[in-house]
Amino acid sequence: MNRPLILLIFILSSCTIQEKKNEVDNKIDQLISQMTLEEKIGQMAQINITVITDGPDKWNSYEPLTLDTEKVKKAILKYKIGSVLNTANNQARSPKLWNQIIGEIQKTAMIESRLGIPIIYGIDGMHGATYTSGATIFPQQITTAASWNPENAYQMARVTAYETKACGIPWNFSPVLDLGQDPRFPRQFETFGEDPYLITQMGNKMIEGYQGNEISNPNNLATCVKHFLGYQTTITGKDRTPSYLPEHVLRELHLPSFKSAIEMGTKSIMINSGLINGIPTHADAYILTTLLREELGFEGVILSDWEDINKLHDRDKVAKSRKEAIKIAINAGIDMSMIPYDYEEFCDKLLELVNEKSISLSRIDESVRRILKLKFELNLFNNPNSSYKDYPDFGSEKHAKLAYNSASEAITLLKNKNSLLPLKKNLKILVTGPNANSMRSLNGGWTYSWQGEKTEKFAQNHNTIFESISNNFGVKNVKFVPGISYPYNADFDKDPRFEYYDQSEDQFNKAIIEAKKSDVIILCLGENSYTEKPGDLNDLNLHPLQKKLAKKLAQTGVPIILIINSGRPRLISDIEPLMSAVVNIYLPGNYGGDALADIISGKVNPSGKLPYTYPMFPNSLTTYNYKPSEIQNNAQGAYSYVGEINILYEFGYGLSYTNFKYDELKVNSSSFNVNETVEISVRVTNLGDKIGKETIQLYSKDHYASLTPDMKRLRRFKKIEINPGESEIISFSLPISELSFINQKNINTLEPGNFDLMISDLNKTIEVY
Ligand code: BGC
Repeated sequence: MNRPLILLIFILSSCTIQEKKNEVDNKIDQLISQMTLEEKIGQMAQINITVITDGPDKWNSYEPLTLDTEKVKKAILKYKIGSVLNTANNQARSPKLWNQIIGEIQKTAMIESRLGIPIIYGIDGMHGATYTSGATIFPQQITTAASWNPENAYQMARVTAYETKACGIPWNFSPVLDLGQDPRFPRQFETFGEDPYLITQMGNKMIEGYQGNEISNPNNLATCVKHFLGYQTTITGKDRTPSYLPEHVLRELHLPSFKSAIEMGTKSIMINSGLINGIPTHADAYILTTLLREELGFEGVILSDWEDINKLHDRDKVAKSRKEAIKIAINAGIDMSMIPYDYEEFCDKLLELVNEKSISLSRIDESVRRILKLKFELNLFNNPNSSYKDYPDFGSEKHAKLAYNSASEAITLLKNKNSLLPLKKNLKILVTGPNANSMRSLNGGWTYSWQGEKTEKFAQNHNTIFESISNNFGVKNVKFVPGISYPYNADFDKDPRFEYYDQSEDQFNKAIIEAKKSDVIILCLGENSYTEKPGDLNDLNLHPLQKKLAKKLAQTGVPIILIINSGRPRLISDIEPLMSAVVNIYLPGNYGGDALADIISGKVNPSGKLPYTYPMFPNSLTTYNYKPSEIQNNAQGAYSYVGEINILYEFGYGLSYTNFKYDELKVNSSSFNVNETVEISVRVTNLGDKIGKETIQLYSKDHYASLTPDMKRLRRFKKIEINPGESEIISFSLPISELSFINQKNINTLEPGNFDLMISDLNKTIEVY
């Protein structure tokens, strides 16, 4: 195409984008000018669906699920509520039922209300359309991260958007962009792991997959990235407890994924439900307005988390009343409150606050404008619902394959003594352990239900580990004895220790007897499903009963393949030496059993790498980017400590059935100024006889800095496939400016000096001047 023509097309298309923008702005202006204060406040309110369903009270609905016309009218017509979330009775619904429910809600909002403003329905589709029966359920984010292939994150988001839109739901509270650096935290599995760069790369791809170019497209939806900012790094390791984080740490480690999400155009952001430095984030005007709005320039909707405005009074005691809590949160910058129950109270009190001039009308208008803009951009005024019939690929084989691929690229081989794996054919295999025959534990929380407890009911068509191993190795070769089991429906509210087991000596002994008759044991240990508070932990060790089973089985002398199936790295250091092989499957989703069986049989060569540091001891929790002072044997003088850094497996570690050799590390120069870019390359050779995938990871290490530097930092990575006997040269470009850090004054700075650039165990030192 010739240049002037390209220029003309560019000018025309930017004109149309600009025209469209002006058109939307005009419509919003018009609408706002007609709205009463009550109507505006209603737009800022989000309610749980159970508040408007037929049932005994706001917590419970009857089945089959129906809307209560009076309650709908009260919420939408009297209180002018603008948004609804969640499912009722905590369970998945068919796309057809979703269409019907959304249709009824929109009818009231658009036909019976004065201004006809559509409702925006929001949901938690965390690894697939969580609350939709028959949806394609992918591995959880932590598993996706272990694949080190952002394409898997992209595909998960594409499919989730498509299948969520099949239900008529246009807004997803995903992805989680928190830093998952604490193995004790009950939501680490919802993150992309402990490294800011890995999280950012994966998060960007999810946003691209969800939103595409235009969120009005019937296959796309609006993202709500969460939980801004510094969630998941609490002192206690427990959910929604205090964090103490200096601002330079927040900016260095926690902010990059969110900053990038804003640059990618995320339409909304959900706020951290916890507290930082004594200030609940929902009350923190510095984080919500100064940082998020003014500095990062975020123009989308800021959504509160569940009941968090009330919590400023009820939990955190920074507001003397719920009314004061509303005042603080709205003035701090919240646009929409996920109330989600007592909406009358929220709306009435917010009205009083504006009338009393404790909150300005312009502050309300700002939020309403953003919410309406999102509704316009989603094209909800013209297309408030969808029909599942227009989504023929819902729950299809095509989508299943993508979820399977992601799991098979993520499963991580951590130990393989005497090349036990892949297993030879015709061995007698015992599959045992509480995770061996459970779809629930393969999937984790946010699967067909909040805590994942309804998974067995909805995932019957999929294979557990035992079923997949049987399919792969032949029913006659594979025996299943659980040894110990989780109760079918563990109730998280009843016992703070949350881990329950059904066990009898009989069951236990049966496993040992069967083990003695077997050639190999596949021992599936880990956790039952959970998320948020119910998953808080008092002991990171794997439960003693599970360890007991492992030790007893080891006494038989039969080689054991340990399968770790958990949302976080539970401590296994005392049983790990007894295992011949160790495979971490994380939470691999509905196709995780099949993917694992294909790895055990050798059909798939494992290529996952840890997205977190696997700890060895409860008092040695650290991340890969630890500080020099954390090294145990660097003490001067009288003490002689043993060990360097006591971890079990390193971040980025994972074995393959083939061997990769790294050599020829090259940089284009040995010294650079701050505006230059270093080009670095390495040769990787597949020395084995199997085709394999390898993730090449580039790290940097700052020799000296005014704030003690990290031991290393991930800067780039790339996953490639190499044929046996072949080599590939991998190159990375790294602008020197990316070697900067946030200094004591919270300023991004690059201090001259020497830096190591490291790939595998190769290293080049460069000078930055
Ligand atoms: C969680 C959020 C979630 C919200 C709505 C909260 O408890 O922290 O991640 O999006 O509930 O279900």
